[in-house]
Amino acid sequence: MNKPLKIFVTGGAGYIGSHCVKALGRAGHDVLVYDNLSTGHEWAVLAGRLVRGDLADIGPLKETLAAFRPDAVIHFAASIQVEESVRLPLQYYRNNVINSLNLLEAMSAAGVSRLIYSSTAAVYGIPQTIPADETAPLAPINPYGASKVMVERALADLAASSDFRYVALRYFNVAGADPEGLIGQAYRESTHLITRALKTAKGEFPKLMIYGTDYPTPDGTCIRDYIHVNDLAQAHVLALQYIMKNGKTATLNCGYGRGFSVREVVETARQITSIDFPVEETGRRAGDPPALIAESARLRSLTGWQPQYDDLPFIIRTAWDWEKKLP
Ligand code: UDP
Repeated sequence: MNKPLKIFVTGGAGYIGSHCVKALGRAGHDVLVYDNLSTGHEWAVLAGRLVRGDLADIGPLKETLAAFRPDAVIHFAASIQVEESVRLPLQYYRNNVINSLNLLEAMSAAGVSRLIYSSTAAVYGIPQTIPADETAPLAPINPYGASKVMVERALADLAASSDFRYVALRYFNVAGADPEGLIGQAYRESTHLITRALKTAKGEFPKLMIYGTDYPTPDGTCIRDYIHVNDLAQAHVLALQYIMKNGKTATLNCGYGRGFSVREVVETARQITSIDFPVEETGRRAGDPPALIAESARLRSLTGWQPQYDDLPFIIRTAWDWEKKLP
């Protein structure tokens, strides 16, 4: 058993955050969730306690951090939809960059020097080598990816100038829901493929759009590395152990190292739901790279991460079980 820690979790009421908070609680840590509930939910916080607050309001943020005095911060709170970031870039830079700087300032004021940061495969843009490892050039092709590169850069500069240390986890495509059934993706406006496919199967949308069939991939649709949200949550618990023990900065890809095309995901979703929901092929969506697959050897070797759910049908089944429960 590792020593119980006090962890301040921004965005802990959201999709990935809530799964991580549950895992942190199970690991014995004392959690304070800080979330503005813009996309998250109070009921999703299954461990620790929730303070409703916005990273844009630096005063209350500083007060809450200083009062809690955490050993480390995990920073999930962010805007995450690629297409939306292309339409609303300033909103993305404000929420993802400015608010992260607020958090770093508040941490510095409270003397907190350890951070796990939610980054993304979108920092790579269109990777030249697939799978992409962490040394691949940072060349984002959308504002979402660019906002995450900017913060990674700020983290590196801060680490170079002080005793601040961080682990940046670059998420590939996070999907699925906790098999125990109490939490899952619950943001109504989510545009992610698996969520959209299942909502279409449920009848919430008349059809699923397939964005682009002329990509340089075997079936012409985009390829992504879909990782189960509980495996990703566990990566955070292990990254926390790593940074508290070693006091070292690291940047780690989080994915399984294999990919599925949009068509493959659609077929699997039809099989799991037994619903032959309609699809329509249409043009490319702005900001989408053709293929993203993780080289995750570094995560495995540095933290001992061993994924449990590398199985697309299982991922989709857990998402479907959850989706059916949602009103
Ligand atoms: N996609 C699609 N139809 C949808 C939603 C997504 O064809 O309704 C495609 C999208 O163009 C991309 C892939 O599915 O190629 C994964 O998109 P998602 O939004 O799930 O994740 P992203 O990789 O953009 O973070």
